[in-house]
Amino acid sequence: MADRHTGAGLEGGTALGYPRIGRHRELKKALEQHWSGKISADELGAVAQQIRATTWQRLHELGLEAHNASIPSDFSYYDQVLDAAVLVGAIPPRFAQWQDADGRLSLEGYFAVARGVGKIAPLEMTKWFDTNYHYLVPEIGPDTEFKLSGDQPALHFAEALSHGFVTRPVIVGPVTLLALAKPAEGAPEGFEPLDRLDDLLPVYAQVLAGLAELDAPWVQLDESALVSELLPVDRTKLIAAAKKAYEVLGSLEKRPQILAQASYAALDDALPALAEAPIEGIALDLVEGDVPTAGAPGVTGLADKVVVAGVIDGHNIWRADLAKALETLRAIEPLAGRVVPSSSTSLFHVPHTLDDESKLPDHVRSWLAFAAEKVVEIVSLARALDGDQAGVAQVFADAAEALATREAHAGVHRAEVGSRVAALTEADFTRAPYAERASVQAAELELPLLPTTTIGSFPQTPEIRRTRSQFTKGEITEAEYVEQIRGHIREVIELQERIGLDVLVHGEAERNDMVQYFAENLDGFDVTENGWVQSYGSRCTRPSILWGDVARRGPITVDWSAYAQSLTTKQVKGMLTGPVTILAWSFVRNDQPKEVTANQVALALRDEIADLEGAGIDIVQVDEPAIRELLPLKKADHADYLRWSVGSFRLATGGAKTRTQVHTHLCYSEFGQIIDAVDGLDADVTSVEAERSKMDIVADIKAAGFSRGIGPGVYDIHSPRVPDVNDVENLLDIALESIPAQQLWVNPDCGLKTRKYDEVVPALTHLVEAAQAERERLAKAE
Ligand code: ZN
Repeated sequence: MADRHTGAGLEGGTALGYPRIGRHRELKKALEQHWSGKISADELGAVAQQIRATTWQRLHELGLEAHNASIPSDFSYYDQVLDAAVLVGAIPPRFAQWQDADGRLSLEGYFAVARGVGKIAPLEMTKWFDTNYHYLVPEIGPDTEFKLSGDQPALHFAEALSHGFVTRPVIVGPVTLLALAKPAEGAPEGFEPLDRLDDLLPVYAQVLAGLAELDAPWVQLDESALVSELLPVDRTKLIAAAKKAYEVLGSLEKRPQILAQASYAALDDALPALAEAPIEGIALDLVEGDVPTAGAPGVTGLADKVVVAGVIDGHNIWRADLAKALETLRAIEPLAGRVVPSSSTSLFHVPHTLDDESKLPDHVRSWLAFAAEKVVEIVSLARALDGDQAGVAQVFADAAEALATREAHAGVHRAEVGSRVAALTEADFTRAPYAERASVQAAELELPLLPTTTIGSFPQTPEIRRTRSQFTKGEITEAEYVEQIRGHIREVIELQERIGLDVLVHGEAERNDMVQYFAENLDGFDVTENGWVQSYGSRCTRPSILWGDVARRGPITVDWSAYAQSLTTKQVKGMLTGPVTILAWSFVRNDQPKEVTANQVALALRDEIADLEGAGIDIVQVDEPAIRELLPLKKADHADYLRWSVGSFRLATGGAKTRTQVHTHLCYSEFGQIIDAVDGLDADVTSVEAERSKMDIVADIKAAGFSRGIGPGVYDIHSPRVPDVNDVENLLDIALESIPAQQLWVNPDCGLKTRKYDEVVPALTHLVEAAQAERERLAKAE
């Protein structure tokens, strides 16, 4: 076709991707119906087709051009990384039964890779860059046979054509696919998937040739791995791989124009690899990254490229400052061949549209832009950049006014909150020395050696869900609700006493979600009705919106905890979610540093802890499962992040009395990376996940000289499997080799909310028996 490799196309703005689950979560519902056997693969396929057609149509109606590849085609049944792995045939041999003679995987096989079947484990799942999306980790070894094994990009391109749209297929790029993969089982020591680049590129070449065959003008290859310094690959090697890949792909005769995408941060030293490659376009994140400076390496390479400028935040929900975005576009214009306004990332991190929200307060709504509204912003910017400023003057004026009212709103800046944060001193972040606390607490709490406890939640039964939903819908009164939740608390306390646990919990029956619960009970937040975003596969979450200064209206958890404590002579642990986790799992305001926001949340939690103490609670747990996942993609930013994130936890807990035992819980096991920060939290007791790694972390704990209470999980709550007494004892034996008995706690890996009572009761019984057996053994050994 005439305009191939000339840089034409994408006029009028584009988005790097769009929510894929359907405006009303149609895909989620269809997937789950299919998995439970209620609808056939064909019926699922029809829903998927409908979603694609609706999405393309909608993007066009919102203002994207129909025929110039501005509309992204990025549908996935489950995950885009899995899709790329399947496309190139990188499927572990344990799924061979679902492949045909040509290596093509059936849809059933695709879901087997994603979700596992019986004893056949799925691919591992992990967080996509610094987002809450989880991708499937491809397994690639020296023998993985790369081979074109699918045609989804071409099929969807042709399908869109039949609806009258010339779309732009979006595919995870070859470097990112390999960089995010892990070595397949049995790969020799030192092997890295990236070593296989030369073998992989010919398959990408075939994919591109197939798209060229259909006259696709553009393809988008997502190479966001290039922005991250957190991947376990050597950065020089990664950049060299990108240089190689885009020299090879760019030199292909038969291909669409290539747009290489880099989202979530600046490319920095990886910019030359893409900017100097013989490709036509590069998509930069100008929300997280700055406009590259004129003389910087690689920048001259932009001069002959279409620069897709990500000035609209794809990762957060605030309405843009259009005037400022336009300035950014103008700033990059002199460096670029041509500038195309866009989102900074795919828009799949934000909900579909504000049109589906009827309960958000008008002022909050006026400050927001979800995916659909962001596309309108992009299109308006494109018109302004094109010289039609008059035509979009009203849109710009509205945006400026929204920004001004947001800045001026009484709830956004509250004098009493601001002055409290401003008045903080070092002392507010510091408790009495640990040794002093430990001896006071030992005397007060009189806990046995190897104390047993749980992480907080007990199984969320259908009855509990019904209680909560009846209350939300107004079907039961508050008094009835309180009585029913108290009933659940009574059952959980009785059960824990029967099992013989040492430190009890109230079970969290009143919480639907550990962040949303606090968001609903604190000023400065709102929650949406339909603000769903994909977490992984069919799983969606509805993050809360943290828009204003945070303040506590009154005690939140105190009545529940105090009631639980009134039922038993054992200690009941109060249960709070920490400031960093509350931020990580919400959409957070972007008009002040996260540190300030985190400290506001911390102060609210600090007041809650004081009230818990006043109500007779001696042990308080502050969960921070997200502290590691917010770790910035650039190493240079780590120290500052750890400083304020650890600081906000210390601020939340820093007012606790010396006699109050502060616990924290971190969800994962790879905390070697941040063990100093964990030490910095200064919690009296820390519980972590450890079962699946068979206590690997105890070595880290020992090496770091960690001196406080530590509870490496001995019961894997992600599995329905019930450990027997022996299993738990074995794990405790391993832990005791590295950790002095005086420091060791005995607990599950995480909360029990997703498990069933008939698993939890025997598992906890075995856990308590194992702890008792160890105590006896230790007593004899003395
Ligand atoms: Zn956890």
